[in-house]
Amino acid sequence: MKKYNFSAGPAILPQEVFAEASQAVVDFAGIGLSILEISHRSKEFQAVMDEAQALVKELLGLSDDFEVLFLQGGASTQFAMIPMNFLGENETAGYVDTGSWSTKAIKEAKRYGGTSVLASSKEDNFNHIPKGYDIPADLKYLHITSNNTIFGTEYHSLPDTDVPVVADMSSNIFSKPIDVDRYGLIYAGAQKNMGPAGTTLVIVKKDFLAKQVREVPTMLDYNTHVGKQSMFNTPPVFAIYVSMLTLRWVKAQGGVTGVQKLNQAKADLLYSTIDDSSLFYNPVAKEDRSLMNVTFLMKNKDLEADFLAAATAAGCSAIKGHRSVGGFRASIYNAMDLEGVKVLTEVITDFDKKHG
Ligand SMILES: *Cc1c(COP(=O)(O)O)cnc(C)c1O
Repeated sequence: MKKYNFSAGPAILPQEVFAEASQAVVDFAGIGLSILEISHRSKEFQAVMDEAQALVKELLGLSDDFEVLFLQGGASTQFAMIPMNFLGENETAGYVDTGSWSTKAIKEAKRYGGTSVLASSKEDNFNHIPKGYDIPADLKYLHITSNNTIFGTEYHSLPDTDVPVVADMSSNIFSKPIDVDRYGLIYAGAQKNMGPAGTTLVIVKKDFLAKQVREVPTMLDYNTHVGKQSMFNTPPVFAIYVSMLTLRWVKAQGGVTGVQKLNQAKADLLYSTIDDSSLFYNPVAKEDRSLMNVTFLMKNKDLEADFLAAATAAGCSAIKGHRSVGGFRASIYNAMDLEGVKVLTEVITDFDKKHG
């Protein structure tokens, strides 16, 4: 039976990417060797790294003011690496707390310097993106989580400030065009919308990079990796290769503008189906709804097991909600097609007719 993968992460990637990546495990670029056994300094892998970086720049419209890095340690390492490099003891960074991932980023920042939580939606179980708070002009940076994977909220516009924005874009990178010049640093674990687990994309503006405040271990210093094109040590070659293939695929869809159109259509269909049902609801403020992670809860929790069984029978996989929200969550990243979303909406509508 065809499966529709709604997993929050590691997550769906295009089928074409899986096919090409599996071929490269056996024979990469026709050289008779696996991509897993060749040197990262071979010309074949160098070409992969060059193309991956070039695609990031092209897809997001990055000028030469930006450096593109493929690091390890996940987005979670960035929570610490950012303040370690950029937040001085006598400086303050602003953080907006929009859920578990922001909370973790705040915890790490506090070790290194002044950390001001400018706003939080915690009291409402993170069901919206805070707005209308004060952003002091002298902050070193403003940290946001652009899409909250667990709670299903997303920034649809940036806070109004001249302070450089640092954004955790793990779950919505390459899902839409962004105003790159507003950012000092962008980071994203690959495994949501870009590739397999194992690499973390970091995009950093050169003038932001110049604001480093302390000496840090070599591997945790952005400049180490900038100087060596992410090959100071052995990079996660396969994760970078598969990410590169996925970026090629994004480009073939019409780039981030092309995928945004499809993402909007998928989200519109799913949210309107939930809104029109009598059994389900989405707990998020309408203007902050995520186009990537759609949460939907049941008014009558006793029906949850039956709904999960019906969705599973239709091939919908990994829709159980995160424990901190409950109910269900469908992650509809770039690689999820409209057909998959239609299948899920049919299950919702049918279930609603039967039990509503
Ligand atoms: C998954 C996720 C993370 C954690 O990423 P790791 O690569 O596992 O460290 C951080 N932030 C967001 C928004 C996420 O969705």
